[in-house]
Amino acid sequence: MAQQTQAPERKKMRTPIESGCPDGMQYMHPLMLKNFGNWKYHDRPRPGVLHHVAYSGDEIWTVRVGTQRQLGPYEINLLCDIVDQYGEGYVRFTIRSNLEVMVSKWDKVGPLIQAFNDAGYPVGGTGNSVTMISHTQGWLHCDIPGTDASGVVKSLMDELHQEFIKEEMPNRVHITTSCCQINCGGQGDIAINVQHTKPPKINHDLVANVCERPSVVARCPVAAIRPAIVNGKPSLEVDEKKCICCGACYPPCPPMQINDPEHSKLAIWVGGKNSNARSKPMFQKLVAAGIPNNPPRWPEVAVIVKKILATYKKDARDWERVGDWVERIGWPRFFELTGLPFTKFHIDNWRGARNSLNASTHIRF
Ligand code: SF4
Ligand code: SF4
Repeated sequence: MAQQTQAPERKKMRTPIESGCPDGMQYMHPLMLKNFGNWKYHDRPRPGVLHHVAYSGDEIWTVRVGTQRQLGPYEINLLCDIVDQYGEGYVRFTIRSNLEVMVSKWDKVGPLIQAFNDAGYPVGGTGNSVTMISHTQGWLHCDIPGTDASGVVKSLMDELHQEFIKEEMPNRVHITTSCCQINCGGQGDIAINVQHTKPPKINHDLVANVCERPSVVARCPVAAIRPAIVNGKPSLEVDEKKCICCGACYPPCPPMQINDPEHSKLAIWVGGKNSNARSKPMFQKLVAAGIPNNPPRWPEVAVIVKKILATYKKDARDWERVGDWVERIGWPRFFELTGLPFTKFHIDNWRGARNSLNASTHIRF
């Protein structure tokens, strides 16, 4: 009988290293823990302040503060000192990088706001305001961006400061920015997204060593990439007539360089929303293309966004989101009122767009 080999005794398993978010409950304000899930109502006593009342009768005020998003040790220490001195030591960040400070007494709200304002931090972003712009990582963290999304946010919020601290828009306005066309890109009432306008340039000397060619070929949404032998080496080629300049081939194959100082532009999209209040969620539509990617303050973007916001503020009815407003007045009227030029680039001429075009023979007004 063949001798059976014994399986080696398993070593004691190592405890897994937790690398995700820590449990948020341990950092919550004690009043929030005590009344967790038992809130009766909430209101806003002034822009930038939320007031929650629990069934137990407990009350808590939350002060929302706009930040520059990328905070260094100096800014974090400054903000934490204010929270310790004027608040109660409890703080959280919203997904739009606002800081929220909770206090258990209304008397503490005024001095807290004053301290933030004195340090140069605005209080606002609630209700019908233009809240902080949500954005992707940009040059600081990601390896494929065509622009610095957080830089666009800081420079634009400097211009929209008054709309952040007041609640004077017809409804809330969510603006987003995104630094490539394909990944964590934004969908919002107004979205500022990178737009590549030329196909990638291939560095054939590097492709064989850096790229897994089958995965790059599979990555292209319009099947424009083919394997090829160039200068006796395995490489890739792009059918430029098919290429829609999306940039999806660049992350798995950096030698397919698509970022370009001149040809990578910014585009502005309008009317997207995820909410299903009053109307269904909507996709945004392109309204301005080929805007220069012009750091550090992107002035051309600011002019267009401010124009759209001013028109929306003046013309929309109460509680209409930007998309609802455009649906009511129609896109031709939107271009008329904002003064933005309607160009051939607004027409979706990609062959796959056939399903979304108005192919009816009826004339519609
Ligand atoms: S939008 Fe694109 S480039 Fe920007 S952080 Fe996300 S994946 Fe990176
Ligand atoms: S940019 Fe997009 S469409 Fe063009 S080759 Fe790369 S993946 Fe394909």
